[in-house]
Amino acid sequence: MENSENNKNKPQLAPVQLGPNTEFKFDCHKDCSCFTACCRKIDIMLTPYDVIRMKKRLELNSDEFLLLYTEIKLLKNTDMPVATLKLLDDERESCPFVKDDVGCIIYDDRPTTCRYYPLGVASLSYTEEETDEEDFFFMVEEPHCKGFDEDKTWSVNSWRDHEGVVECDRVNDGWTNILVRKKSIPSSVKLTEQSKKMFYDISYNTEKFRRFIFESTFLTLYNIEEETLKNIKDDDIALIEFGFEWLKFILFQEGEFDKNEEVATKRAK
Ligand code: SF4
Ligand code: SF4
Repeated sequence: MENSENNKNKPQLAPVQLGPNTEFKFDCHKDCSCFTACCRKIDIMLTPYDVIRMKKRLELNSDEFLLLYTEIKLLKNTDMPVATLKLLDDERESCPFVKDDVGCIIYDDRPTTCRYYPLGVASLSYTEEETDEEDFFFMVEEPHCKGFDEDKTWSVNSWRDHEGVVECDRVNDGWTNILVRKKSIPSSVKLTEQSKKMFYDISYNTEKFRRFIFESTFLTLYNIEEETLKNIKDDDIALIEFGFEWLKFILFQEGEFDKNEEVATKRAK
């Protein structure tokens, strides 16, 4: 695993926290002289919902998508493994989904971080130094981006609506909450390798997590409601939302999972 502290293309981050109504001037269109410049030499951390949408769009399963298009990095100050977009080995270190003439070829299913740009979100920035329990927005100002010279005014909220991130944030909410919580814990508190692996698999590999639930001893150890099982059997979004609850339970002992004590006692003997 590469540690994200080695990131040589770290953007300049203005340390100003923006509120939902903070206004800024920006626009991005095909006629910008910098068109697609922002899709090279980048660090894009993927969210669980990003991976669900992208792999579906590309008609791949999780294993295939993760192998072909991602690499694992450790989230700074948390030691948590996250999937990031693997750039091409070309001179410009391009995103695999950018084409000079058309831009992003998976535009409707582009990652959350790409949608937010030029805004950054603290919980999705693995180079961000410190945070508290609250998530926040900030401006990512990169010299190559001419969008700041344009005359269109947005608020943080109107930009989020325009770029379709509201749904992404809703689905990822439990996950970003875990990241923010973990960032707020002293870095000396380490996760076990097994917990890190579980965090990564639940976050990004829906087929593997589904097999864990339905094909391991999980359901003999925990009583899960029939309705929940029905939902997570075929629905990837319901599955990852269940996964976030499970992660909070095993990482922070938060929430409740009804354990079958009889089975647990027998197994412990
Ligand atoms: S660099 Fe900025 S203005 Fe240029 S294409 Fe990217 S986001 Fe748009
Ligand atoms: S996924 Fe699309 S928008 Fe994001 S960096 Fe790649 S080409 Fe650009």
